[in-house]
Amino acid sequence: MTIHSSDRPSWAEPYKIKTVELIRMTTREEREQAIREAGYNTFLIKSRDVYIDLLTDSGTSAMSDRQWAGMMVGDEAYSGSENFYNLQNAVSEYYGYKYLVPTHQGRGAENLLSQIMIKDGDYVPGNMYFTTTRLHQELAGGTFVDVIIDEAHDAHNRHPFKGNVDIEKLDRLVQEVGAERIPYISLEGNVNMAGGQPFSMANLKELNRYCRKHDIPIMLDATRTIENAWFIREREEGYANKSLRSILREICDLTDGATMSAKKDLLVNIGGFFACNDETVFRKAQNMVVVYEGLHTYGGLAGRDMEAMALGIREAVMEDHQASRIGQVRYLGDMLRKAGIPIVNPIGSHAIFLNAREFLPHVDQDDYPAQTLAAELYLEAGIRSMERGNVSAGRDPETGKNRRPALELVRLTLPRRVYTQAHMDVVAESVLRVFERRESIKGLKMTYEPEYLRFFQARFAPLP
Ligand SMILES: *Cc1c(COP(=O)(O)O)cnc(C)c1O
Repeated sequence: MTIHSSDRPSWAEPYKIKTVELIRMTTREEREQAIREAGYNTFLIKSRDVYIDLLTDSGTSAMSDRQWAGMMVGDEAYSGSENFYNLQNAVSEYYGYKYLVPTHQGRGAENLLSQIMIKDGDYVPGNMYFTTTRLHQELAGGTFVDVIIDEAHDAHNRHPFKGNVDIEKLDRLVQEVGAERIPYISLEGNVNMAGGQPFSMANLKELNRYCRKHDIPIMLDATRTIENAWFIREREEGYANKSLRSILREICDLTDGATMSAKKDLLVNIGGFFACNDETVFRKAQNMVVVYEGLHTYGGLAGRDMEAMALGIREAVMEDHQASRIGQVRYLGDMLRKAGIPIVNPIGSHAIFLNAREFLPHVDQDDYPAQTLAAELYLEAGIRSMERGNVSAGRDPETGKNRRPALELVRLTLPRRVYTQAHMDVVAESVLRVFERRESIKGLKMTYEPEYLRFFQARFAPLP
């Protein structure tokens, strides 16, 4: 069976290539040694041993010549750097929040938000969890409560907005614990763990009405909100003729603040921020950032990083950029789907998610089918992907057992502006080769388990 794409979507990269980075091809023997040494965890493989790196779209995008030029005008002053003010202007122009605190990356902002707003015994609802987001909520004494619509937990459901909040679930929580025990709701755009699935503007408007009534702030995880805006325009009535920029602004105007990992949407290798409209919260964040990140005008970043981020905001809202970004993800997803590979539908914006449960139905979830599949794909072709299943979900703090989430996935994440269509063909062919020999694949057992965010550093061994 071969993969041939006859109906190529009508998009092309809105850039040409000025600099290239050479990559190394490896032999099967080299890969066998590399994955063994990495404890069958793709996070622990050395980058030099990887051919096509689809581990994450975080900090792995290619910056433009303008962003690189921006790096040269870094004002490396300890305080009051010019680049901070450029970033502040860009955030207020495009996202619209009044106050900004830069952080070294997304989790730095999550730490500030969680420590400032969550009290011991609070509940934090969210449209599915994200690993670092939930951990920071828990470390601050909160309990995460999933209020995403049920469809999001079903890899087959074709709901166009699987990232939507189920307002009834939220209301049940409010009735049960009282709104005063809910410091905010955490709303993620293009929900990563659900397969990169967007929320709709209609859902956000309804959420906004509900939260205003109960005095619950909405805190946006803005990491992939520009990509979310793309889907709103494509799928929601009344948005077909609006610009990404105006949709982004409409989203932010319905929320009270945001944490941002600029390493995704914003096309930089490092950076993030916390932004909000409430002056008291801002003052606290501005003070706390000094403890954990650095002075409030650099938050753990160099001036040049803030300049690249400010320029990245302007490039990320460009229409042809997102058309090619999302077009490339769909190109890969369509090839896999046509070849009969089980993937999460609809296809999201940043990655293709292989459904490891169906790919390896004979491997029990506690033998980590997604972790196993990620290791096999590396062995097959040097392609690095990431587990998003039972290992990432961790253990239930109450029972100590694996959480065994409904979605057991392998994420093939596309960095922005980095790989070509030919790379995508190689990826699809390699996945197909693993699929053809799937019955001979056995699971893994965990041999080392770290206490926090175990998926990053856990080690495994093949089952006999
Ligand atoms: C990456 C990510 C984060 C964390 O950001 P870092 O920059 O990796 O610290 C938070 N939320 C979402 C949705 C993410 O994808």
